[in-house]
Amino acid sequence: MPALNPSKIRNVALLGGPGAGKTTLADTFLFLSGTVSRKGSVDQGSSVFDHEEEAKSRHHSVSLSIGHLTWRDVWINLIDVPGLLDFYGDAYSAVRVVEGVILVLDGTVGAEAMVERSLSLIRRHQLPFILFVNKLDDERADLNKVLVDLQDHLHLNPLPVWVPTGSGCPSVVNLVTGQPEISPPATIPDELTPLRERILEAVAETDDSLLEVYLETGDLDADTISSGLGRLVQNCGQNAVLFCGSAHKEVGVRALLDAVVDWFPPPTARPIRLIEDGSEREEMPRTTGGGIGLVFKIFADPYVGRITFFKVLSGTFTSDSTIVNVTAGRRERVGQLLVAQGKTYEPIGEAPVGTIALVGKLESTRSGHTIATEPINRIVPPIEFPTGYMELAVYPKSRGDEEKILSGIQRVAEEDPVFRWYRHPETGETIIAGMGDQHLDVMVEKLKRKFGAEVVSRLPKIAYKETIRRPADGEGRFVKQTGGRGQYGIARIRVEPLEPRSDFEFVNRITGGAIPARYIPSVEKGIREGKEKGVLANYPIINFRAILFDGKYHEVDSSDYAFQMAGLLALRDAVEKAEPYLLEPIMRLEVTVPEEFVGDVIGDINGKRGHVIGIEPHDGMRTILALVPMASLQRYAAELRSLTRGRGSYKMEFAHYQELPQHLSAQVIAEARAQRQEEKG
Ligand code: GDP
Repeated sequence: MPALNPSKIRNVALLGGPGAGKTTLADTFLFLSGTVSRKGSVDQGSSVFDHEEEAKSRHHSVSLSIGHLTWRDVWINLIDVPGLLDFYGDAYSAVRVVEGVILVLDGTVGAEAMVERSLSLIRRHQLPFILFVNKLDDERADLNKVLVDLQDHLHLNPLPVWVPTGSGCPSVVNLVTGQPEISPPATIPDELTPLRERILEAVAETDDSLLEVYLETGDLDADTISSGLGRLVQNCGQNAVLFCGSAHKEVGVRALLDAVVDWFPPPTARPIRLIEDGSEREEMPRTTGGGIGLVFKIFADPYVGRITFFKVLSGTFTSDSTIVNVTAGRRERVGQLLVAQGKTYEPIGEAPVGTIALVGKLESTRSGHTIATEPINRIVPPIEFPTGYMELAVYPKSRGDEEKILSGIQRVAEEDPVFRWYRHPETGETIIAGMGDQHLDVMVEKLKRKFGAEVVSRLPKIAYKETIRRPADGEGRFVKQTGGRGQYGIARIRVEPLEPRSDFEFVNRITGGAIPARYIPSVEKGIREGKEKGVLANYPIINFRAILFDGKYHEVDSSDYAFQMAGLLALRDAVEKAEPYLLEPIMRLEVTVPEEFVGDVIGDINGKRGHVIGIEPHDGMRTILALVPMASLQRYAAELRSLTRGRGSYKMEFAHYQELPQHLSAQVIAEARAQRQEEKG
C-alpha cells in the first residue's frame, strides 16, 4: 500500500438513529468508489461494516466499525457508529478521532431522539457536519416534514443543497447550480425553488463583502457559494447543510462523497488538544517527527487476542517499533501496523498523522489511553464515556465456570468502556451494568460466543438492611454439660438504636469479672456474626449499639466457642424484642428531559414511591431531582425511554436507607423464609 498523504485524508463518522441507513450508506460508499465489486447488504448479512455476529443476527450495529475508500484521490476513513442508545458509547469514541460527521436521518421518520443526541455530541466537539436525509426512495418518506422537524425541534436552519428531482427520489439535483448528480440533466421541482434563497442568504451572511454582492445582484456565483457552504459546514452552527438521497438506490451518495472531500477538513487542519501539567491547550498536528496517538477502541478477539485501534494525532508511527503508553506509563512493542476494512486488515509500513490504524497484542492499552513513539509529558484528554445504570446479576450456567466467566467479563469490559461490572459487597452477586437491556443482552451473548462463558442473568437482589426501633435486653445461653467436655457461656446484652449511618458499636460494661476479660472478644465476635446474618430476613443489622453488661462463666467448661455462641444468641434475642424492621436503599435520581415530558416523569416518580426534591434548567431541557427506592428503578432505563420516546436520560447514585413499608416488608420476609426452607430442605 502506498504511504498516506495526510492532507489527502478525511476521517468521517456516520451518526444518526437506528435503522436510518448509516451502514447501508457506508457500504454504498465502498461500492460506488470501486473499493468493493459487490455491494454489501445489511439485510443479507454481507455488509462490510456489520460483521460481528451479534450485529448480523439483529440487523443492527452493536459496535463501531471501520472501513476506507478512495474518492478523487483522497483517502476517506469511515467510522460507522451504532444508532441504538444502548450501543451509543462508541459514538463518544468516534467523535474524538474524526474531522467531520455525516448525520444520517431516516426520511420516513424525521429528526427523532438519536438525531438530537448526535447533534449535541457534534456540537460539544465543534465538528463539521452534513445532514443526509436517506430513504427518500421510500414512498412514506417526507422531506418537508424532516425540514420542519429540524427547524422546530432542533432549531436548525436546514440548507438543502442537493434535493430530489421528483417523488421517489429518482435522482438529485443541486438546488444552487441546477447541476445533476449524474446525467441526464435534471430540473428542480418548483416547490423547492424558494429554498435556494435560504441557502444564498446563509452563505452571504458568512462574509460582509458577499452580503454586499448578494444584496446588489440578488445572486452569487457557483464557486463562491460552494466555498461559503464549506465554511458553514465547518462552523458547526445553526445553518445545517443538508443532502438528500437513497443509500439503497445509490442516489445522492456521489454528491455526498464530493462534499466530504471538498468541505471536511484534513486532519492536519484541525488543532489537537493536549493536557500538560494539568492544563489543556491546543496545538496544530505535526506532519513530521515522533507520533502521538489516541486509542479509541479495543476489540477482544478470542483467537488473535486484543486488537487496539488508534488515531495518529500528530507525527508518525512505524511498524515493528517500540511505543510508550503515556497514560499507563509503560513501554510496549508494536508489530505490524494495519488498517481495517470491516473485519479484514491490510498492513501499512507507516502511519502518518490522520491515519486510523490498528495493531495487535498491546497489553496495557485501553480505550482513551495516549500512546507515543517516545516518552512525553503530555496526554490527550481521555474519552468521556456515558455511564449506564441498567444492572443485572449474572450466575454461571454450569458449576465450575466461575473463573471462565470472570475472565470473560473482564475482556468484554475492555472492549466496551460503557460496560461495567463489580462484585456486590453485600449480596455477593456479580453485577454487570450498561445502557439498557439490549446492551447487556449483547454482552451476555459475546461472553458465550467469544469466551465460552455461559451465564444466566436476572435482576439483582436488593441489598436490604435490618435495624431496631427501641432498646431491648436479651440473653444468650450456650450451656451443654451432659457427658464429655462441657460447653458453658452466658451473655446478657442490651441493644439501642443509633442515628442513621452509624452502622454498629460494641460496648463492654462487664464489671467484677462476670465474664473473664479473655472471653469478651469472643462475645463480640458472636454478636458481629449475628449482626451480619440478621434476624428478620437474613440482611445485616445496622444503626445500633450492643452493650454487654452481664454474663456467667464456668472454670472448666467455658471456651471461646461457647462465648461466641452466647453472643450470637444474645443478639438474636435482644433484636427480636427491639421491634426490628427492614430498611431499603434509596437512590438519588437525576432525570434530564425536554420540558414537555416533565409532568409525565414526575407522575411516574410519584408512582414509584419516590419524591421530587427539585427541578433545574439544563441545556434547554429540565433536570428533575428525586429520591426513589432502588427497587423501583431496576427497569428505569427502558421505562424512561418509552416515557420520553428516547429523549430522556438519567443518572443515579445511592443516597441513604429508609424504612421499607409494611406490606413490602412482609413480602421480603416471606421470601427470605421460603429461601431458608429451600436451603434446609
Ligand atoms: P443503520 O442502523 O443506520 O446502520 O441502518 P442500516 O443501514 O442497517 O439500514 C436499516 C434498514 O433500512 C435496512 O433494512 C436497510 O436495507 C434499509 N435502508 C437503508 N438505506 C435505505 C434506503 O436508502 N432506502 C430504503 N428504502 N431502505 C433503506
